[in-house]
Amino acid sequence: MPEDIKSMYERELQAAFAEMGEPSYRAAQVYKWLHLGVESFDEMTNISKKFREKLMEKYHISSAAIEKKLVSDYDDTKKYLFSFKDGEKVESVLMSYHHGYTSCISTQAGCRMGCAFCATGKSGFSRNLTASEMIAQLQTEQRDNNIRISNVVLMGMGEPLDNFDNVVRFLNLVSSENGMNIGMRHISLSTCGIVPKIYELADMKLQITLSVSLHAPNNEIRSRTMPVNKRYDIDELLRACRYYIHQTNRRISFEYAMIDGVNDSAANARELALKLKGMLCHVNLIPVNAVSGTVYKKSKRERIREFVSVLEKSGITVTVRRTLGSDINASCGQLKRSAERKGVAKGD
Ligand code: SAH
Ligand code: SF4
Repeated sequence: MPEDIKSMYERELQAAFAEMGEPSYRAAQVYKWLHLGVESFDEMTNISKKFREKLMEKYHISSAAIEKKLVSDYDDTKKYLFSFKDGEKVESVLMSYHHGYTSCISTQAGCRMGCAFCATGKSGFSRNLTASEMIAQLQTEQRDNNIRISNVVLMGMGEPLDNFDNVVRFLNLVSSENGMNIGMRHISLSTCGIVPKIYELADMKLQITLSVSLHAPNNEIRSRTMPVNKRYDIDELLRACRYYIHQTNRRISFEYAMIDGVNDSAANARELALKLKGMLCHVNLIPVNAVSGTVYKKSKRERIREFVSVLEKSGITVTVRRTLGSDINASCGQLKRSAERKGVAKGD
């Protein structure tokens, strides 16, 4: 199997090319082409044909092919179903904000974490994505829309910290100067709370934003919807979050899906406020997206308002997420599931 060249660091290319007898500037040339998004070695016009042939024998270039695309009628949100060379499919969502384009990409085909409200969690796990497959999602979206993506969120299918090494590699590649040059401060990583990996990430002191999917103020409620809580409970998770803040000096964003009658009472809000007291954090409330095959429904508007007011009174900053692309099932995992049920027609 040829090696995955777009997942390699520039210094790794340098070492490999030196062994092939190439001058040292060759690695920078090839690296730049790869991160400009070429899909074949023949597009690398400043590389000799002889060396291109050698590259072709030894390496392959990952790509993400558009299997299906949905465009929202309300805003400019686009949802993609991509397929990779082995036929695995993942979703990604491209959102347009006044400050530029944000892409929400997948890090795994499926997910092992099994959260009860999540469409991806319901579909099981196929495999980890490589760093280059994460980059390819961004590149295809840039090409398809003739735009430059300025922000990335790792909030699509999969649990990024369950694919730690590839995700860290992606972060380093995508932020590199000769790469897409998207700064770490423009990248958010969302996790359901794999505690040992939060410590590991904290020690790397990257400047990314960490989002933690909390979704409950106590173990009783959290374990009901998120199996990961049985492995790492809320207090352990919040201890890891405090360590993360201490190491990185970065504010953590807690995601909280508002589920009707499950976690949305004023008492739940008070309990949450108490748990987060004194932390450098922000709470993002998301009215849960109803997923077929689950019983969960969005909280009522008054409930959300009340929840916000309790948190604010306790001095916690809170926002209610604007739901972009609500007409195209923009929460990840849903498009793939409906495509699997209907059978996807290419290019429709
Ligand atoms: N695995 C990571 C990142 C991908 S999920 C994580 O869990 O954080 C991205 C976000 O979508 C998470 O906050 C997740 O809890 C949330 N989510 C999943 N299903 C949802 C649904 N039906 N409605 C609202 N948010 C959902
Ligand atoms: Fe996996 Fe995140 Fe979905 Fe949970 S919410 S099943 S961790 S993708």
